Amino acid sequence: MGPVVGVDLGTTYSCVAIFQNGAVEIIANDQGNRVTPSYVAFTDSERLVGDAAKTQAALNPANTIYDTKRLIGRQFTDPLVQKDMKLWPFKVVPDSSGKPLIQVTVDGAKKSLTPQEVSSMVLGKMRDTAEAYLGKEVKNMVVTVPAYFNDAQRQATKDAGAIAGLNVLRILNEPTAAAIAFGLDRSHAAETVLVFDLGGGTFDVSLLSIDSGVFEVLATAGDTHLGGEDLDARLIQHLIGIVKKKYPGKDPTTSPAAVQKLRREAERAKRALSTKTEVRVEIEGLLPGVDLSEMVTRAKFEELCADLFRQTLLPVEKVLEDAAISKSDVSEVVLVGGSTRIPKVRSMLKRFFNGKEPNTSINPDEAVAFGAAVQAGVLSGERDKKIQDLLLLDVAPLTLGIETTGGVMAAIIPRNTVIPTSKTKRYTTAEDGQVAVTNKVFEGERPLSQDNRLLGTFELSGFPAMPRGEAQIDVTFDLDANGILSVSAREVTSGTEAKITIQNADRLSPEDVERMVNEAASYKDADAQALGRVEARVRLEQYVHACRKLLKDVELRNRMLEEDVLSATSDLDTVDAWLDDSGDHSAAEYDERLAELRDNSVGPVFERYDVVGQLHRARVGLLRVAAWRTVCA
Ligand code: AMP
Repeated sequence: MGPVVGVDLGTTYSCVAIFQNGAVEIIANDQGNRVTPSYVAFTDSERLVGDAAKTQAALNPANTIYDTKRLIGRQFTDPLVQKDMKLWPFKVVPDSSGKPLIQVTVDGAKKSLTPQEVSSMVLGKMRDTAEAYLGKEVKNMVVTVPAYFNDAQRQATKDAGAIAGLNVLRILNEPTAAAIAFGLDRSHAAETVLVFDLGGGTFDVSLLSIDSGVFEVLATAGDTHLGGEDLDARLIQHLIGIVKKKYPGKDPTTSPAAVQKLRREAERAKRALSTKTEVRVEIEGLLPGVDLSEMVTRAKFEELCADLFRQTLLPVEKVLEDAAISKSDVSEVVLVGGSTRIPKVRSMLKRFFNGKEPNTSINPDEAVAFGAAVQAGVLSGERDKKIQDLLLLDVAPLTLGIETTGGVMAAIIPRNTVIPTSKTKRYTTAEDGQVAVTNKVFEGERPLSQDNRLLGTFELSGFPAMPRGEAQIDVTFDLDANGILSVSAREVTSGTEAKITIQNADRLSPEDVERMVNEAASYKDADAQALGRVEARVRLEQYVHACRKLLKDVELRNRMLEEDVLSATSDLDTVDAWLDDSGDHSAAEYDERLAELRDNSVGPVFERYDVVGQLHRARVGLLRVAAWRTVCA
């Protein structure tokens, strides 16, 4: 197989590592840096990737691409894409299928790139870095993604690898990778670990349980737009204020080059303030005739960013709440992302966890790549006792299921099920003689599918016509280790089969997961009512259906008086008509109608002919069927 490397493909920086000779090595790039900017730039003569691309960004803003991780696997109309686009100096346009394309100008000609292509260039750069260090060809990788990435985003990340000619053996969740990095040398006691990942542009908090080398994601939360760059922005604003005060009439924001210089120096100052208590920011010739020389203290920096720092505690509270775990149950707090070097971030977290020291034994910029390299080691068959029994478990962030009778969502893979997983449930047809079923695949936590997110629709057709309820259709949900969902439906008696792989789902940000879970909680009562209504309606429909089926029974028909047949049929017609033109009735109204039929009209008729037992059996059969039934085509 050759070497397998682990790559942290980050929004702002990427990092590559390898497990060999019993240890993880972070591989430095050709500039000697252990992390590489996730930047690609086009000049008229060449394509630049990494440090070289970032360095020239200010001079060539429209042709310097970064932040592709925010685009990958998303639709152009995605609100996050629309919002992010406004901040980028490069141009993003939709392609014919509604996916975003990045447009640059090379040699006067327009060139369009997919986010996957740009990411493939960054992955290619990480491969080159590894090859230069190992002196061998590298074809295989483990690549990490945020825990909340959906199928489309994971698939697109895999595609990026394929474009670079790489085999992505595994897509690994970032917090899981970080936990592996920190968990390697631990005893096998059960632990609950909080991973606090504050990077350049994004903030992710995950709660994991680790037991006997088994990792499980319990909950995730975060903010897709909170990170080191926001802290830089506060410092930049502060410095701009100082320039304006000192040089009335001068405004650095009018010059992109000046803003770029400020950005570079602000970031440098911020980093320095993680180890020093004060730092001087000096920029000569910021604007013509304007020099900046200003002392910034750590206290001032903390004051400028106080609200942002405080904001980081909210997702921490959220994951604990979601997983119903108290802070004292958290055995380790793990820091990931360059911004967790900031002393204030560390001290706040320490105070939040009642004095528990966050775990800082691994470099926060490198922890994710470190864990990816360990997983890569496992996959390459590295025989090391440290990694021998490492098993990885991730979970489905939302419930996956299909729509059944009355628009009820039937859960097939419940939220937080450990993946990879495969679950099968048996369904049947709703109509006599039905030869096709439409399967609608949803994700979400609400009981009615209309309130959840439609991931895809596919049809199983061409199976033999059978009476309602007799076809046996096995619906299988397969969620692989990379979080990619395949759904198949198979009619058992005929062997007819149909399948869908869901990778075109638009997007699912942590906010979306959070919103959907929160909505489910806030609509709990209303949803229970709506579900009760649907179920009561289905109960009534099924009673009517069972009665009609009984009335078709030849033996019974021969025994029945014509007037009884007529009155029963007319009572059933009345209810059907009421069901047909009824708007929304309450569950009580449906149940009232059902009681009326059962106790006062058709029920007593069937009683006279002694077929109540038969009716009951038909109903029970239908009720059992109903729970498994797909809405018919
Ligand atoms: P990441 O995306 O995890 O590589 O994080 C990069 C972010 O961490 C950037 O915003 C950096 O400015 C920030 N960062 C790196 N080192 C430090 C440091 N020593 N102190 C404060 N922030 C840092």
